[in-house]
Amino acid sequence: AYVITTGCIDVKDGACVQCCPVDCIYTGGRTLYIHPDECIDCGVCEPACPTQAIYEDHRLPAPLRPFLAINREFFGAQ
Ligand code: SF4
Repeated sequence: AYVITTGCIDVKDGACVQCCPVDCIYTGGRTLYIHPDECIDCGVCEPACPTQAIYEDHRLPAPLRPFLAINREFFGAQ
């Protein structure tokens, strides 16, 4: 699945929400979140993001890996 990272915090531009074909991007307090089970890995949101905040999970740069856990926590997964 794709993951939203640092660049979205306090930005929440929403271009990704507009282009996601399955509406799996949700609004949190300071950032948007992609639901890991609903995302179909189409990749459309990645280039749409004006702050380059979105990465495919297995391509996350090391400093951004904590966002995997932050994302899981938001959706209450194990
Ligand atoms: Fe939505 Fe596709 Fe982005 Fe997943 S990769 S969040 S399905 S636009």
